[in-house]
Amino acid sequence: MIYKNILDTKDKNFPIVIIGSGPAGITLATKLAKKKINSLIIEAGDEEYSDSSQQNYRSKVIGDEIDDLRYSRLRQLGGTSGHWGGWCKPIEKWNIEKWGLNYKEISNYENETCKILDIKNKFKKARLDKYFNQIEFRYSKVRFAEKYKDEIKKSKYIHLVLNSQVTHFEGNDQIINKVVVAQNKKIHKIKSNFFVLCSGGIENSRILLWTNQKSKGLLNKDLPIGKFWMTHPWILGGVGFLYKSKIKEILKDNFINYDGPIHISASKDLINEKKIMSGAIYMNAKEDTKLYKEIVKDFLCVAPDYGKKIARSIFDKDLKCGDIFMNLEELPDEKNRIELDKNELDNNGIPITNLYYKQSIDTLISMKTILQELGNFFVKKDIGRVAIKENIENLTNYEHLGVHHHMGGTRIGDNPKISVVDKNLKVHSTKNLYVCGSSTFSTGGYSNPTYTIVQLALRLSDHIDKKINL
Ligand SMILES: Cc1cc2nc3c(=O)[nH]c(=O)nc-3n(C[C@H](O)[C@H](O)[C@H](O)COP(=O)(O)OP(=O)(O)OC[C@H]3O[C@@H](n4cnc5c(N)ncnc54)[C@H](O)[C@@H]3O)c2cc1C
Repeated sequence: MIYKNILDTKDKNFPIVIIGSGPAGITLATKLAKKKINSLIIEAGDEEYSDSSQQNYRSKVIGDEIDDLRYSRLRQLGGTSGHWGGWCKPIEKWNIEKWGLNYKEISNYENETCKILDIKNKFKKARLDKYFNQIEFRYSKVRFAEKYKDEIKKSKYIHLVLNSQVTHFEGNDQIINKVVVAQNKKIHKIKSNFFVLCSGGIENSRILLWTNQKSKGLLNKDLPIGKFWMTHPWILGGVGFLYKSKIKEILKDNFINYDGPIHISASKDLINEKKIMSGAIYMNAKEDTKLYKEIVKDFLCVAPDYGKKIARSIFDKDLKCGDIFMNLEELPDEKNRIELDKNELDNNGIPITNLYYKQSIDTLISMKTILQELGNFFVKKDIGRVAIKENIENLTNYEHLGVHHHMGGTRIGDNPKISVVDKNLKVHSTKNLYVCGSSTFSTGGYSNPTYTIVQLALRLSDHIDKKINL
């Protein structure tokens, strides 16, 4: 059922309330429905986003410049999946283990996750050498609103109310018993046994920070809520080319795709030996002939014979050539954080967020090391060349091409000094409040986050099912 008026949900009993209808919230509710468990999803946006609704997402960025945070998340049914890129890949095993989780707990949900995202459960990995792997992404076209709206409308178990902004929680003795919701300038309080925040990588922290102010003592005041915020820097690292025939000789049939985009990740050995953050490079599938010509011209100037060789390869269509993009991991840093603004309020009177964010030298060094080592590998095997961008070569700064992944703020872990939720995603020292989404990522890795978010939501639904049936 989809409701416009929150009063229509008043007489019903929901054992679980989910805040937010993005990939996390919808995955959780649809899986609970399969177990015949009733849930109420409270969604701040309407079926489509509007400029005035997005205004509630305005945020000040203090520190290094990043995109306006109104545009990197959508306040609407289906959440930010309304305009995501759809790149999917499971997170690396060693990354999940850093969170203190057993990889199987997450990988058990791969089949289900791929069905939800309408992608093949096949992610090949080919070892290029000790330091690099070729990796495979899948590209999902799923918009959660489009895929699930009818199912939710018809469902006996899923109840979803639109245009209702959760502001904070109330309760006592570590038990949350009500969620406070603003709709049409009126305040409503909804009771339940379990509450799950699925409101995205900034709003999850915001709602908990406001709960700390409105319901003093309900949450442990020392929890690092909002801290260790991270993104995946997505940057232009340089330009390069590689010979398809030569790389075929090395990898034979192991090479994943000779004609599509090329993704290469730094191996665990490279990360450990050089003490860098993880990262991957991406070369486009589209052939940019203008760029080819420029690269060949440059090579003809500095190395005429080599330049001619490249030019010949272009005619033979044996060259993969173009910009080298990178997506990187950032070191969790408690100074990169979300706080509530002391003066400015949104349309419902809730403080807007301030994001304190600084680029780190660790990320820059990781970018440079990965590109340098990739260049060395290309030269050693004579399979291509890499030219690193000057600002990265000189370790000055990097330019974000989009800050689309919002992670941290409610990290997973055992230690409440550096984490907010436990291994089951329950907020430390509460009995019934959970958080699901990339805000729980303890480290960011380099893989795009939504695949892992869906896995976490599926796992959480099994956990809540057990709790409800205790
Ligand atoms: C341009 C762009 C491209 C992207 N591309 C990729 C990609 O290729 N691959 C990938 O893995 N990820 C990508 N992402 C990230 C991806 O969109 C997110 O990881 C994903 O949407 C997160 O899902 P979520 O359910 O946790 O949060 P969201 O999708 O943000 O959903 C949160 C929901 O909660 C609601 N909400 C928020 N606050 C409240 C409140 N107070 N009360 C009630 N409801 C509330 C929101 O309206 C929203 O519906 C991209 C993001 C952007 C912006």
